[in-house]
Amino acid sequence: MMKRTLLRNGIIVTASDQFLGDLLIEDGKIAAIGKELKLEADKVIDAAGKYIFPGGIDAHIHMDVLCSDGSVSAGYDTDSVAAAVGGTTTILDYVIQEKGNSLLETANLWKDHAKQSAIDYGFHLIITQPNDTSPQELDTLVEQGITSFKLFMANQIAMSDKELFNMMKELKKRGCTAAIHAENKDIIATLQAEYVAQGKTSPAYHGKTRPELTEVEAINRAITLAELTGCPTLIAHISTAKGLQLVQEAKARGVQVYAESCPHYLLLSDENYNLEGYESAKFVLSPPLRSSENFNGLWQGMLNGAVDIISSDHNGFSYSTHKQLGQDDFRKIPNGAPSIEHRFGLIYSYGLEKGMDPCRFVELVSTNPAKIFGLYPQKGTISPGSDADLVIFDPEAEHVISAETQYQKSDYTPYEQRRLQGKVDTVLLRGECIVKEGKYVSGLDYGQYLKRSTR
Ligand SMILES: [Zn+2]
Repeated sequence: MMKRTLLRNGIIVTASDQFLGDLLIEDGKIAAIGKELKLEADKVIDAAGKYIFPGGIDAHIHMDVLCSDGSVSAGYDTDSVAAAVGGTTTILDYVIQEKGNSLLETANLWKDHAKQSAIDYGFHLIITQPNDTSPQELDTLVEQGITSFKLFMANQIAMSDKELFNMMKELKKRGCTAAIHAENKDIIATLQAEYVAQGKTSPAYHGKTRPELTEVEAINRAITLAELTGCPTLIAHISTAKGLQLVQEAKARGVQVYAESCPHYLLLSDENYNLEGYESAKFVLSPPLRSSENFNGLWQGMLNGAVDIISSDHNGFSYSTHKQLGQDDFRKIPNGAPSIEHRFGLIYSYGLEKGMDPCRFVELVSTNPAKIFGLYPQKGTISPGSDADLVIFDPEAEHVISAETQYQKSDYTPYEQRRLQGKVDTVLLRGECIVKEGKYVSGLDYGQYLKRSTR
């Protein structure tokens, strides 16, 4: 028996269009879209006065991150549920190749981690031992649907320009996409050593040792590598207006480069590094928060198309545990902050305030991530044949973010007490209702692994 669900009278929004209509779901896929569809269904959902968005795609998250004391950040069992409640139906997890593990072993390990996912998921692999990566291994990963790889210019796992250049050529050959963490490793390490030698070890110095130009320089180099190799390249988590401008200029001359930013770079400034006591550790992430002078340029890019995707760069760390590891040295604070639950709502609400229309919102949080990372049109749009991953969103409702009420496992949120316009009401994943009236109503492990295509 075919299972049919009908959504009635919603404002259906895609990246290119919005219109009042009905939507029929058959066996987990979108079967028909139209006005006043005269069709029978097993279940009818009234969406009057509400938006129907394609499910959010968060293309940059981290689950189960290992800390220096052996503890681990929040994982799929809690934070995939948090994502769902927040309007996200697909996540792409950046999984790191630990020392001694091959990329294939890493992928297998994470398929195990993700067994309890409430929503659909895929992986980007963070290559940390480029010398051991064989062409055959890359071929096998591509067959498994892993078609994007993260390369670091900064931190302990940074690659040299030679390694980046060679790896990007291999990725290009296979139709894969590179995602680059662009910060200048040597300058940051030098500044960190200087500050620590002067006893400057508090979280405040996390930002001071990673000045804006260390990102801008590295973005410029990443673009150069993309241009030289022809490898489609996403500049991950852009924090500076200048860095974004470089990407925009490169696109204009035909380089296949994409810009990702995150809610925290649009909404939180480096003033959060001047908080009392150790509180600033909550905001230690890389690249760091910047001066509010960047907000304008980044928001402009959100509106005019310079920014391609918005991801959370979620790390489910808690303040009372993981973040305490850097009490005597800011370099030991686990980098990252929780936001998988709030990305969708934050961008809708603040976007509205800045004059963003719903189509552009959909493009940033769902359609472009699907297109860039090989999931389109299965995911990222509302169209016959696409997975029925849908968010019914009430634009009139309000929502106050707080650590006390969030589903995320972390004991804090960087957005404590922010009041948002609009609220996720219902979420469907492949036609199944997993969130109802803002509450998670499904069981764990409904999420499926997504094989992604190459270019
Ligand atoms: Zn990240």
